[in-house]
Amino acid sequence: MKKQFLMASVATLLLAGCTSEKTTTNPFFAEKYGTEYEIPPFSEITTEHIREALLKGYEEQKQEIMAIADNTEEPTLENTILALDNAGQLLTKVSSVFGPLSSSNSTQEFRDLEKEIAPLSSEMSTLIYMNDNLFQRVKKLYDDQASMNYTKEQAKLIEKYYKRFVRNGALLNETDKQKLAELNKEISLAQLEFEQNLLHETNNTFVTVDKLEDLDGLPQENIDRAAEMAKKNGQEGKWMFNMQRASCNPVLQFCTNRDLRKKVYDAYYNRGNQGNEWDNNAVSVKIIQLRLEKAKLMGYNDYASFALDDRMAKTNENVYNLLDQIWEPAVKKANEELADIRAEIKKEGNNFEPEGWDYMYYMDKAKKAKYAIDDNEVRPYLEVYNVQQGIFYVANKLYGLTFTERTDLPKYQEDTKVFEVHDKDGSLIALFYSDYFPRDGKGAGAWCTSFRGSYYKDGKRVIPIVVNCASLTPPSGNTPALQNITNITTEFHEFGHALHSFMRDVQYRGTGGVERDFVEVPSQINEHWALEPEILNVYAKHYQTGEVIPMELVKKIQDSEKYGQGFATVELVAASLVDMDLHTLTEIPANFNVMDFEQQKLKERGIPRQIFPRYRVTNFSHTMGGGYTAGYYSYLWAEVYECDAFQAYKEAGNVLDSSIAQRFRDYILAPGGIDDGMTMYRNFRGRDPKIDGLLDNRGLK
Ligand SMILES: [Zn+2]
Repeated sequence: MKKQFLMASVATLLLAGCTSEKTTTNPFFAEKYGTEYEIPPFSEITTEHIREALLKGYEEQKQEIMAIADNTEEPTLENTILALDNAGQLLTKVSSVFGPLSSSNSTQEFRDLEKEIAPLSSEMSTLIYMNDNLFQRVKKLYDDQASMNYTKEQAKLIEKYYKRFVRNGALLNETDKQKLAELNKEISLAQLEFEQNLLHETNNTFVTVDKLEDLDGLPQENIDRAAEMAKKNGQEGKWMFNMQRASCNPVLQFCTNRDLRKKVYDAYYNRGNQGNEWDNNAVSVKIIQLRLEKAKLMGYNDYASFALDDRMAKTNENVYNLLDQIWEPAVKKANEELADIRAEIKKEGNNFEPEGWDYMYYMDKAKKAKYAIDDNEVRPYLEVYNVQQGIFYVANKLYGLTFTERTDLPKYQEDTKVFEVHDKDGSLIALFYSDYFPRDGKGAGAWCTSFRGSYYKDGKRVIPIVVNCASLTPPSGNTPALQNITNITTEFHEFGHALHSFMRDVQYRGTGGVERDFVEVPSQINEHWALEPEILNVYAKHYQTGEVIPMELVKKIQDSEKYGQGFATVELVAASLVDMDLHTLTEIPANFNVMDFEQQKLKERGIPRQIFPRYRVTNFSHTMGGGYTAGYYSYLWAEVYECDAFQAYKEAGNVLDSSIAQRFRDYILAPGGIDDGMTMYRNFRGRDPKIDGLLDNRGLK
């Protein structure tokens, strides 16, 4: 696989060499790509093509925006909102190729280009949202809506543009606009500093072990990796662990040496809190302070209120209300698990009170004792493409979709698979790429992206090109790509996002997106089908014998999946609470200490002292880095909705009930952002969600 990647790089380099002559035509500049389905002609595209097209794209969009703003005619839907929605076609065309490729096939050239264009993108944002002429046109249309005869989607599009302008400061006076621009800049610089410190702390905080016997219990593959890391860092003959979960978690889970576990545990949770030059305490306070200032400038009491205003949750109270309902049963369950841990400690002939660094180790033991389950027993039944067939089977039963593999269509990476996706009436609804294995230049984790979104052009739906990326276990030698339960759940999860993209049916590009805290509903619900016995029967077949996975094994998997959810839920809710607590402050106390604040707040709520929040403030990238500010609760929020939605199938006594699926499609997947999340949900379920589904799913009832 690595070889294929290198070959692809060489091809790119050769082509890049050609473009320096400026004689090849840039595929982005042609009216059409000329490929089947207008798939980007990946093998012809060079970094220089992308760069050239991005620069030209920004320039074109700038001209188009200025023309809309300076139009002397009365504003209309067409000459203002639709013109904005259609602006920047070239930029969209090239960005939707560059974006996905820079996550999956990144090169140094790509990273340089990303840095080069970052300022252009923020310049564009200022150009659009700080332009008062443009805003006045949008505002007029928004204010006059009632007297016009817009479709529901058109009205929503106007509202979305109006709110986007307002949230970017369009209603402020000139002085405050300047202040906002200054604050935004300071916030993004402080967030960047936080992220860079954290990255350094994660990769360069090491725990070094001198003697092999200290690694007792650790699987051989982890020992080998630790030896490699030591060698790389000039400590040959020793073993080193950094603070990537893949490196340090196995120590916490398997090492019998309690002192070593404590060392790793302390190092992991104190990233950014070591008083060194990468310390994140001061910058965290600064970020909280700046965000509060921004919220007040925008007319809110606290930052969370500002952030939640355009989400489903809407108010701080709604978020706390959700978290409080989960907190109590989760703490209760965690305390039960603690009792199991104490029993395991006793079994060993010891008599100490468990600490944080004992948790994973003894929980793993307790789980094995209870369920006698081993990953290696399950994996032969979970070959990655058999699992994919299972995923397609579910989509077929629920929605009538069919999938046809096409080996002749353009690919950006050799080991991906490409499928035509047909709707139940046989019409083409999407193209789907699956890209499941890790390689150099590909990001960690899993995600869903697209090379083309769907909307209507000249009355015809544009067929989306959707991609699922992941870093699942690749094949090795004669063994195919066998997965564990976590990985197949990921495979189903990302496909849930893909289904949302296949079925989204909106006229305009600007109406596609749903609220941040609704995004994970279609993906998380899709995970439920992975472990349903009826579905496992279809896809979980032994890769050598073809034997279907034994039902007793399925039962064990299902039961064991819920074990440890007390701990997992407490750490997740705790992090969500701290995120909210920090962003609901209405003033920052003198000498504010974020770590003391975090501990004091959680202690007041009765957190078992053995559990830290999943991320502590100085290493909480989701919220301090900016992506999930006052938004870490979103995972749980979405889980309430999707678990309750899945209950609808359970209540019908058929997890493959196609009439419920049709409702899910019509009310949740198809409307995109035309309706808000709450409306979509009520349309689907006929009522508000109940939290019971989540509690049941996590074994907390
Ligand atoms: Zn997701």
